[in-house]
Amino acid sequence: MSTHRLERLHLWIKWLLLAVLLALAALIALYFYQGGWERMRSSRTLARLIPSDFFQGPQVAIISGHRGFDSGAVCKDGLMEALVNEEIATRVTAMLQAQGVSVMLLDEYDPRLQGLHARALLSIHADSCIEQSGFKVASAEQTVIPEQDQMLVDCLREKYSEATGLTFRSTAITKDMTQYHAFQRVADDTPGAIIETGYLGGDRALLVDEPDRVASGIVAGILCFLDQQDALAKTPTVTATNGSTD
Ligand SMILES: [Zn+2]
Repeated sequence: MSTHRLERLHLWIKWLLLAVLLALAALIALYFYQGGWERMRSSRTLARLIPSDFFQGPQVAIISGHRGFDSGAVCKDGLMEALVNEEIATRVTAMLQAQGVSVMLLDEYDPRLQGLHARALLSIHADSCIEQSGFKVASAEQTVIPEQDQMLVDCLREKYSEATGLTFRSTAITKDMTQYHAFQRVADDTPGAIIETGYLGGDRALLVDEPDRVASGIVAGILCFLDQQDALAKTPTVTATNGSTD
């Protein structure tokens, strides 16, 4: 082969390589343009491989009720709500992480709540020491994402009652729940809920002796919500434009 032909071959290979690289770059750009980044952020498989919070913050934020602030309800024998909440919140965090969900475990007034973006926020509390039974779940009274909030509440309500056998007490939901401080702190587009897992009085055996069962009910509720969110993201939404509906 003459040097001239060899040079031409080199040049040709260089152009070919460049073309392949450009095509590859275009493909990657197209992937991200079509929502690939969002898919990567919400992928549980990737979350197992890559350290959590890698894709801009956690998927789920859990508040361990009263932690870092006060004890919450205290029963006559010294049983403290904050410690019961923490037992459960720690288990919920570990179980979700085992499912490949990235989780941020927060204190009651954690500074990281400010403007927090997550696919879901849940604050875990327990009710007073009275001899009653039942649980409550509520979302913010004022919200710009009512459907998302309701979906989170419905999932938690269904799955938690399935796992624990406790009765949902909708009539006992208070302003303390619907005007919960963390709802106002996080980003507007972060769906949020607060759960009162049961009464430290009447549901004590469940809350204190079976924290895994309590936690698994909460985890099932959160996974139900994440799955429904994923399903919604895949379905194209039809927007009514005629304005004739109320
Ligand atoms: Zn509380």
